[in-house]
Formats: sequence, C-alpha cells, structure tokens
Amino acid sequence: MTPTLIDGKEVAASVRSKLQQEIDELKAQGHIPGLAVVLVGEDPASQVYVGSKVKACEELGIYSQKWTLPAETTQEELVQLIHQLNADERIHGILVQSPPPPHIDEEAVILNIDPRKDVDGFHPANVARLVLEDAEGFVPCTPLGCMELLKAYGIETAGKHAVVIGRSMIVGKPMANLLVAKNANATVTIAHSRTRDLPGLCRTADIIVAAVGRPEMVTAEYVKDGAVVLDVGINRIADETRPRGYRIVGDVDFEAVKDKCSYITPVPGGVGPMTIAMLIANTVKACRQLTR
Ligand code: NDP
Repeated sequence: MTPTLIDGKEVAASVRSKLQQEIDELKAQGHIPGLAVVLVGEDPASQVYVGSKVKACEELGIYSQKWTLPAETTQEELVQLIHQLNADERIHGILVQSPPPPHIDEEAVILNIDPRKDVDGFHPANVARLVLEDAEGFVPCTPLGCMELLKAYGIETAGKHAVVIGRSMIVGKPMANLLVAKNANATVTIAHSRTRDLPGLCRTADIIVAAVGRPEMVTAEYVKDGAVVLDVGINRIADETRPRGYRIVGDVDFEAVKDKCSYITPVPGGVGPMTIAMLIANTVKACRQLTR
C-alpha cells in the first residue's frame, strides 16, 4: 500500500492563515490576543520551545510576554507572577514551560493559573471540561493538533478502533478523550507500559496514536494493513553523520511501518508543527471568550 504522508507543516500553515483572519477581526474590534510564556531555568530544549512560541506570536501579530526566570526562582515567586498575569488584561493565555526545575511543584503552579487563561489545558477545570465535552474548555495543544490533522485529511474516526499508546495528561489521556467524544465517536483503547501484548492489541487498531517517548518502538508487527498512524514522539538519537551529532525520530519505526499504512505522520514534519499552531488557536479562543 502506498501511504499518504500527513503533512503537518502544510496543515499548520493553513490553520495559521485562518487564525490570522480571526486575529485581524479581533484587532478590528479593539482586542489584541496576548500570550505570556514563562520559563524557569535554562533547559536548552525548553528555551528552543519558548523561542518558537514567541516567534509564532510575533509572526501572527499577537501580543506576547516572555518571562525568563532564574532556576532558583521559588514556588512563591512563580505563583506571584502567575497571579500578576491572571490580572493583566493584555494577557489572555498563560503558559508555564514544562518541565520546571525539580523544586517547583508543577501541578500546584498550574492550579494558580486562571482556567480561562490556561491555554495549555492542564488545569483540572479544563481537564473536566474536556471529559464533559464542554467546548468552552481548553484542550492540550498536541492532541488537539492530532485531531486537526485527522480532520484536514478527512480521516473518518466514527466507529473506528483507536489505540492510544501512552496515558500522560499532556498527550495520551486528552487524545483518548477527544477520540471518544461524541463528535469523533471512535472506540478507544488506552495502552501503557503495563499493557499485555501491545503489538497484538495495536494490530486490532484502525488508528494508532503513539505517544510513548521510546524511539521507533512501534514496528511493522504493531500495524495492520490500512491503519492510520499518528506519531507524537520526539526523540533524539545519536547520529554522528549529522553536524549536531543526533537526529530526531518518532515513536514509530517509519520506514518499517509506512508501507502498511493508509496514512502516516512523519517525524519531523507531522504532529510537531501542529502544537504551536494549536497554542495560538487556544490563545485566540481565550481572547474571544474573555472579551465577549
Ligand atoms: P510520558 O513519558 O509522560 O508518557 C509516556 C507514556 O508511554 C506513559 O503512559 C508510559 O506508560 C507509556 N509507555 C512507556 N513505555 C512504554 C512501553 N514500552 N509500552 C507501552 N507504553 C509505554 O510522555 P509524553 O506523553 O509527555 O510524551 C510522549 C512522546 O511525545 C515523547 O516522545 C514526547 O517527546 C512527545 N511529545 C511531543 C509533543 C509534540 O509537540 N509533538 C508534545 C508532547 C510530547 P506508564 O504510564 O505505564 O509509565
């Protein structure tokens, strides 16, 4: 089977151009969407992610604040900043880049974010809204991006069996909730490290979403002919042929699997580009909801 490659860059560009129109409309009404990104510490990967998020805001003409706090920032200081951002009318979305340094209790910090500005969708109020299928809530950006990819390629989910590998609050669980919701109607199995016979289970799937964090774990024996495979994984593996000494691979062994799939996302260029597009989408949504 010749697979269709799901082009995340193209879909993200089209999402961004639709968002540009919405942003222009909001501006015409006197509202500029605003996002605050908070980074504690100097984790290099986090610095790159935060930089990309701020750049996306600039490209779309969104107001942004980038807060870079030293690694020794206390929990109280961070919470104080969150409260300041909650009260700042220029800010509609607040994001604390994960992971913070170990002395910070991330869940406790998230509880302090005004749920109406929680564009990462991590606050328990937004987790509840997702489960309740309340459209006003905020859904984590990566699974939201996966759903957008399925929509963009007209991939039917109703009545299909989807296996989501991974049960994190950032990807696996929200992904499963989105797929089982009444506007998607998939039958969903969530798999994790204790799941028995994962390859056998995955072979019963029409749609596989791999969010494991294990390089190229999903091999041909996991995939039935014609399956749709979404690869969320971003893993660095050593590669001396590359100037940086590493390359990025997904959780799926792309070369081994692709010829069995009807649709597959590459890594990079699949799910990855969607995450920031959906962050902007959530910020625009927050602006709309806070200013209506
Ligand atoms: P977590 O480490 O939080 O969760 C991984 C999940 O995979 C856990 O539920 C774990 O099970 C499960 N798992 C681990 N090993 C196995 C195994 N051998 N068999 C079956 N299940 C297993 O990761 P995240 O959800 O945060 O991220 C997953 C991947 O997605 C990573 O590669 C990450 O880099 C990437 N990612 C990409 C994003 C993007 O923008 N594209 C955004 C966020 C993440 P258990 O619960 O039992 O431990």
